[in-house]
Amino acid sequence: ILALNFGSSSIKFAVFHGKERILHGLVQNTNALEKQYLDIEFNDTVIHENLTDIALNQVILKLIDILHANDIYPDGVGHRILHGGEDFSASCIVTEEVKNAIRKYYSLAPLHNPVQLHGIEVCEAVMPTIPQVAVFDTAFHQTMPPKAFMYGLPYEYYTDMGIRRFGFHGNSHKYVSRHVCDFLNIDPVGKKIIVCHLGNGSSLSAVVDGRCVDTSMGLSPVEGLLMGTRSGSIDPTVVQYIANKGGMMPDQVLAMLNNHSGLLGIVGEGTSDMRDIERLADEGHERAILALDMLYYQLKKLIGSFIVAMNGVDIICFTGGIGQNSHKLRSAVMAEFDWLGVEIDENANRCKGTDMVISTPKSTIRVCVIPTNEELMIALDTAELLDNN
Ligand code: ADP
Repeated sequence: ILALNFGSSSIKFAVFHGKERILHGLVQNTNALEKQYLDIEFNDTVIHENLTDIALNQVILKLIDILHANDIYPDGVGHRILHGGEDFSASCIVTEEVKNAIRKYYSLAPLHNPVQLHGIEVCEAVMPTIPQVAVFDTAFHQTMPPKAFMYGLPYEYYTDMGIRRFGFHGNSHKYVSRHVCDFLNIDPVGKKIIVCHLGNGSSLSAVVDGRCVDTSMGLSPVEGLLMGTRSGSIDPTVVQYIANKGGMMPDQVLAMLNNHSGLLGIVGEGTSDMRDIERLADEGHERAILALDMLYYQLKKLIGSFIVAMNGVDIICFTGGIGQNSHKLRSAVMAEFDWLGVEIDENANRCKGTDMVISTPKSTIRVCVIPTNEELMIALDTAELLDNN
């Protein structure tokens, strides 16, 4: 199965045989011709090619050529789709109806849904006999009850305009909440799990019996926790106030909230990279220290609110570039839960790149690092649909 993850400026891809990843790679800068390149890691070698044609069909053709040259002929292609709204609570085989539904959510995911649908259409043209599957970032969160997904607006905004909380990173939350149970050899039924997906974008989910009951992102990915360049939740009056005072259009304020806020905006050194920010904080940079304080504090409050929402928690998982790699963040945030009996094994907490329990046997809550694998989730859903059809 070829799993394709089209982002706003890159395409991540991987080929799986069952759960085994036999190849993976990246097309970087899909909208900037000079620096566009393709990297593929296969059999311990890396193929690097600078691309001279930015057209998506040429990029996909190139990728397929390389797969065929290595005797890899996918049985199906799984596509990550950012927004499926309320139309999809599971992955599905792409039909004209599915494509129309993806179009319906263009305005809520302008940087993703159009390019992801284009990706599907290119693959259909290049591989006309191979089934295409749509795997939605929002689907896993569709099990949230109305009390968790409704905003306190007049009800008609929900019925007429579909305004509600959707949540994102669903493939990561689904993968991590399932995989941690396999890893610990436990049944997800009866378990309460919090997944902290912390990367450039960050979101938390609360999972009971393997089903999502709450998540921190909302109508769009800007809601929730302070992120790399996103503000996280703010009072909507801020948008109106900045628009009026700063002579900006609401769209411009929103672009600022998405692209120039968060860690980047607080630290003010032109970086949103957690490694830089942790280094700056170690060197005594006051705003880097503030940014980390804010992030840790917000994360603690969100985890706390999800523990209360579920009336308890059995497992807390950390994933995403920051969650998987920053032992400092995990240590600082989990220390805040010592009053609940959480105890971290600092040796285990130094782990990198592997599934790991980082709490001590005495800890009342099991704390784990589970590297996410969104492409595997896409491939597994795709394989399951192909088997059933
Ligand atoms: P995306 O949301 O774009 O998929 P990632 O999940 O790859 O992003 O996460 C990117 C973040 O992970 C960046 O802020 C980066 O600094 C952080 N990160 C990567 N490696 C480390 C590390 N060793 N220590 C701390 N943070 C790290």
